[in-house]
Amino acid sequence: MTVEVAERPHFKTQSLEGYHSMGLKATASEFFLIHTKHQLAPLWREGWFDRRPVLLGEGTNTVFITDPKRPVCKIAMKGIRISDESESSVRVQAAAGENWHQLVTWAVAQNYGGIENLALIPGTVGAAPVQNIGAYGVELSDVFEELEAFSMKHGTFKTIGREECRFGYRSSLFKHGEPEWLICSVSIRLTKDHHKLSSSYQSLETYLEKLGIQTPGIGDLYQAVCSIRKSKLPDPKILPNCGSFFKNPVISMERFRHCKSMFPDMPAYPAGDSTAKGHVKIPAGWLIEKAGWKGRRKGGFGMYRQHALVLVHFGGSGGGELHAFMEEVTGAVLNLFGIQLEPEVHLIGDTIIPSTQT
Ligand SMILES: Cc1cc2nc3c(=O)[nH]c(=O)nc-3n(C[C@H](O)[C@H](O)[C@H](O)COP(=O)(O)OP(=O)(O)OC[C@H]3O[C@@H](n4cnc5c(N)ncnc54)[C@H](O)[C@@H]3O)c2cc1C
Repeated sequence: MTVEVAERPHFKTQSLEGYHSMGLKATASEFFLIHTKHQLAPLWREGWFDRRPVLLGEGTNTVFITDPKRPVCKIAMKGIRISDESESSVRVQAAAGENWHQLVTWAVAQNYGGIENLALIPGTVGAAPVQNIGAYGVELSDVFEELEAFSMKHGTFKTIGREECRFGYRSSLFKHGEPEWLICSVSIRLTKDHHKLSSSYQSLETYLEKLGIQTPGIGDLYQAVCSIRKSKLPDPKILPNCGSFFKNPVISMERFRHCKSMFPDMPAYPAGDSTAKGHVKIPAGWLIEKAGWKGRRKGGFGMYRQHALVLVHFGGSGGGELHAFMEEVTGAVLNLFGIQLEPEVHLIGDTIIPSTQT
């Protein structure tokens, strides 16, 4: 019989520069790695979770703007296994610390379909449900079955199903309110027969057409998504960034009509939320471009030249400069359109600055 022994985490002072993809200098006075879920209950009994640790995957949607006052807890649990299999599908359970893109690559290599459109989304498996990651017409919730999480409030484990996760557009239960759940593993259902591949997203369709591929397989979609993403988005390892930095703002129809009278080409989409009736969603990248910030740099920061919504760090700058830069960009948009932009990423300093949802 194997007896699982709870490994004691190693607490230490740690530079966070390499632990978040924006690469700002910050130091955690207490940092620890969680390698196995068996570490969690002993930590809870010692009262560790009362100190509200910052949960960290690969930090590709998190920016440490100053030294965090709270402990930082990096989720590093590993393991991928098939937990159920039928003739037409498999259920894959992946530990929270696994890299998302590596999971996608593994699935495609096994000829399991469903997540190929989500290739090259940076970050971990455990963070994927937090904002219900999505790209090219597919989101995590399309394949999601359940996850196992640890309640930092009650010290117990729970299996949480799809309904309870309350997935929405880049949103879920885990993005709202005081964080309670530390996600340990995620289970997704992947297909073996691939009847329902999603290739109708416009840039994907155009790309496949150019290659003369009429009935793409999962490998074709994977390759296409990787190529398109590499051509459009900066690699955080080369040019530090966090992907889309601001949310697409939701505004009232009244404001939209006013803006439209001045900017007839202003795009708008349904707000997609029943609480936002009579409202529309405006692409933040369009607003930033119109306000003259696409491809513009100031000091160590800039808005990426090929994608106005991606804020990039050219190196050597700190949280204070980032704040000043954000204020310039959001101020320009506010002056021109009367619309306030809010960060999409998790900004962490003395306290978390919560990101209200789109
Ligand atoms: C270049 C680039 C492109 C991107 N493109 C996309 C895209 O196309 N679509 C998309 O949806 N996103 C995209 N993103 C955003 C990012 O990839 C996702 O948000 C990803 O899920 C973040 O993973 P992470 O491990 O880095 O999370 P982190 O930044 O470490 O954490 C994000 C949030 O999740 C919480 N968290 C992390 N792990 C756990 C856990 N185990 N349990 C509970 N909470 C946890 C953290 O506390 C934090 O609140 C992009 C980012 C970059 C840099």
